[in-house]
Amino acid sequence: MTRELIGHFIDGKEIFEGDGRGPVYNPALGRPVREVLFADEAVVDRAVAAAKAAQVAWGEESLARRQRVMFDYRSLLLAHRNEIVALISEEHGKVLGDAGGEFARGVEVVEFVTGLPQLLKGQYNDSVSRGVDAMSVRYPIGVAAGITPFNFPAMVPMWMFPVALAAGNGFVLKPSEKDPSTALRLAELFVEAGGPPGLFNVVNGDQRAVGRLLEHPDVKAISFVGSTPIARSIYERAAHAGKRVQALGGAKNHMVVLPDADIDTVAEAAVSAAYGSAGERCMAISVMVLVGDDGEAHLSAIKDRMQRLTVGSYLDPKSEMGPLITGIHRDRVARLVGEAEAKGAKILVDGRQHPLIKEAGFFFGPTLIDGVRVDMEAYQEEIFGPVLLVLRAPNLEAAIALVNENPYANGAAIFTGSGGAARTFIRHIDAGMVGVNVPIPVPVAYHSFGGSKFSLFGDTHVHGEEGIRFYTRAKAVTMRWPGEDRIATGMHFVTNS
Ligand code: NAD
Repeated sequence: MTRELIGHFIDGKEIFEGDGRGPVYNPALGRPVREVLFADEAVVDRAVAAAKAAQVAWGEESLARRQRVMFDYRSLLLAHRNEIVALISEEHGKVLGDAGGEFARGVEVVEFVTGLPQLLKGQYNDSVSRGVDAMSVRYPIGVAAGITPFNFPAMVPMWMFPVALAAGNGFVLKPSEKDPSTALRLAELFVEAGGPPGLFNVVNGDQRAVGRLLEHPDVKAISFVGSTPIARSIYERAAHAGKRVQALGGAKNHMVVLPDADIDTVAEAAVSAAYGSAGERCMAISVMVLVGDDGEAHLSAIKDRMQRLTVGSYLDPKSEMGPLITGIHRDRVARLVGEAEAKGAKILVDGRQHPLIKEAGFFFGPTLIDGVRVDMEAYQEEIFGPVLLVLRAPNLEAAIALVNENPYANGAAIFTGSGGAARTFIRHIDAGMVGVNVPIPVPVAYHSFGGSKFSLFGDTHVHGEEGIRFYTRAKAVTMRWPGEDRIATGMHFVTNS
């Protein structure tokens, strides 16, 4: 379903209110294809009120009913797969294969929460004292809000709302204003699947809508995913307002390659992890650390594989890598490549020279830079583009120290045939998600996703058991039933009148 103007989804229907609007681009064409309305405070208040009202009955529903809605939602999502994948590609620019991948990872979370009753079982101890039992139970928190980035318009919202909803909460999602259509469709399908109207709302907009969500007294928890400076500020503001908060930030993910790593495996992994989705992935490999020998064999295999990488529009099925999200972002990526070059790094493959750069779409070619030093801005900053930096380390210990010095700590991977080296890496690397011969170690839905340092402000990771804890509050109950004493002393409940 293609819209010309995108509104908000509140109380089970799309509404067209708000104070401003912005263009939504098709990055492959380099021009706007529609507009999105920006919510003001009144629109946000309406969405929160709808979620609050719908949550009361939903929180009282049986686990079986909530589970069934999630089952039906999963079926409906799969029935609409191609439509959603096309929306993702149109507004984000990633090729259909990448869009299909993110859709599948999002659906995985819906599948995970169909088993939520098992995870909400709680704990029980009989006789913690004479005649006294204790149990720990988890209840919904009420209304939660999610604020999400442009780079995964389906998957990142789906890290959040399926868990929150299945756990009995209402939810308000504020997706990225750069690619907002997918979120709206996900919310519509939830109602079509039998979800109560009003439980899951989408407000579109910018920092004004976010500001209202952060201060609204009925929003009890904030899940944020985006760039590090915004994540830090969201964390501080939400915590100050007394809310639960998890704020996931940017990343700089390293791939450490030992001399014994299989050359073809490394080349395939590096190219797919650095250039897939044009490097606009929070788990993209953006730095390769070659350990020990000169690493020339690995580098030359990577360059060979890069020659065969097809850049182009998602409309061409041969394309393996699409454009960047905006022209401004493309210029920033080019500037950071130029800065590294000016400071002495060697550009082995130069994306600035790619023929598609002259097209209207926001294309930038895959780029490989050797001889990078840690003081370069390209290394310090998250580039978020198809640029792989290469650094050297004399041994594994030095490579681990180099990675751990970096302020980000999302993912890190090691490529080796040595179990001992891999074990040392797992134990000592400072990253939330670690890959062994796996370049993008995004955990499956029943494990939790998240990093530390500049990559996560807050305590809990998303989805998996940590996600359930985030969207529920615990009660520890201690119970004594005086009736039991009376039964023991001969009193009967059933008496003859
Ligand atoms: P962004 O920080 O610009 O925007 C994220 C969200 O915050 C959007 O909804 C946006 O509207 C809102 N926002 C922007 N400025 C704001 C402000 N001043 N006040 C309040 N809200 C504001 O991020 P982006 O460019 O959309 O996404 C890319 C970033 O997200 C990258 O840094 C990437 O690493 C990060 N990311 C991290 C993860 C992770 O799991 N750690 C996952 C995906 C993306």
